Formats: sequence, C-alpha cells, structure tokens
Amino acid sequence: MPEAQDDRPLGIYGGTFDPVHYGHLRLAEEAVDALDLAGIRWIPAGQPALRETPRVAAWQRLTMVRLAIADNPRFVLDTAEVEAARTSYTVPTLERLRQVDHYGPRRPLVLLLGADAFAALPAWHRWPSLYDLAHLAVAHRPGHPIDLGQLPAALAADWRQRFCDRPAALAESPCGRIASFATTQLAISATQIRALLAGRRSARYLLPDEVLAHLQQHRLYQEN
Ligand code: ATP
Repeated sequence: MPEAQDDRPLGIYGGTFDPVHYGHLRLAEEAVDALDLAGIRWIPAGQPALRETPRVAAWQRLTMVRLAIADNPRFVLDTAEVEAARTSYTVPTLERLRQVDHYGPRRPLVLLLGADAFAALPAWHRWPSLYDLAHLAVAHRPGHPIDLGQLPAALAADWRQRFCDRPAALAESPCGRIASFATTQLAISATQIRALLAGRRSARYLLPDEVLAHLQQHRLYQEN
C-alpha cells in the first residue's frame, strides 16, 4: 500500500477508465517519480458527471483497472465510487478522503489531471473547492497544450496565482497549489479504443494484455 507509513504527497487519480489504457498508466507511473509521490490512489468513477453513462458496467471498468494495476506496488484501487453506484463528483470524493479515518486534513493530496481535463474544470461541480482539498498536477497530453490564453479566465488566474515549479512545494502544504509535469506523450484515448473494438479492429499494444483479454472474453465495446 503506497499510503502506509509514508507521509509524502499521495496522488489521486480519478477517471472513467472506459477502458483503462497505457496513456493512463504511464501518466500515473511517471507522476510518482516526477512529483515524488508516495503512490497513486486510482478512483474509477461510478456514473461520471459530465458524460453519457458508459455502456460498459461500472464494475467492468473497475475490474479492468484492477487487472491493469494489480502488480504495481505504487498503486492502490479505491472502489468506493463504483460501489456507491451514483454520480461521482470529485469534490465530495476528496472530502471523503479528507475524513480522519482516511488521510485527515494535513496529508498532501495531489489530484492528477490530463491537460484536457484541467481545461474543463470550470464545468465541474463546486470546482473552486478543489483547492481547499488537494493540489492539482496537470499532465501534458498530446493535442491539449496548456495555453493560458486559451483557458477560461478564472482558471488562468488560478494558474498564475497558484503555480509552483518545484515539485517539492507540494509536500509543504496539504492543498492549494498547481503543478504540471511532462509525461511520455501517448496519443491514446479510451474513445479511440472503443472505436477500434466496435469496428472489430485490433487495440493490442494500446492497453495491457490482461485488460484486452478481459474485454474480449466479455465482448465489451463490440457494438457501436
Ligand atoms: P475518453 O476518450 O473516453 O474521453 P480518456 O482516454 O480521456 O477517455 P479518462 O478516463 O476520461 O480517459 O481520463 C482520465 C484522466 O486521464 C483525465 O484526467 C485525462 O485527461 C487523463 N488522460 C487520459 N488519457 C491520457 C493520455 N493519453 N495522456 C495524458 N493524460 C491522459
């Protein structure tokens, strides 16, 4: 467990993971080293708030993340959002993690986001409260440059005010800073994988073999 006996910042990685792929996995793996994290808590969404209900059952998405991260001691899986079987919002999720029986108020938490997700933050439920709960770490993503001139004005202002270019600064407070980090640029998306599978084309090498075997066994994503 990455959180046991380690008070370094902990990465929090939420997503639909519909399905999980190597873009997600490299982002998480590289974030640990780039930001000196104790590890990553993966949190697959129950019903994602801002997109259509995935056609694959939430437990299937969860199972695929479990398969993908099973042998990585830096990663743990948080099943609570899927088990709650309701719409997932990040602020209440972080409030749950801030309770004393989880991490409490002082542990630095770092919410990992791809650059596309970061740019869309102002659509999130209670999004300004994120800064009271976690730091934000924005990963570069192909096709989604971080361009302050293109960001919503409030978000660009937050970036200017909160940005820290020293990853060590994330360990100095529980929440409220923004950092960015470069990851190996993999132009992989779950949308692309779903389209390949629906078209009966190969998705091999875009996601772990264990995940591919699972979705083939259960005939997931095979219909348009
Ligand atoms: P979809 O294509 O269905 O929108 P996705 O591939 O973007 O899915 P999500 O589960 O929506 O995957 O993403 C979870 C998080 O991972 C988001 O913060 C997203 O920006 C980030 N992410 C996903 N794929 C990549 C990638 N290839 N490189 C960097 N970040 C990524």
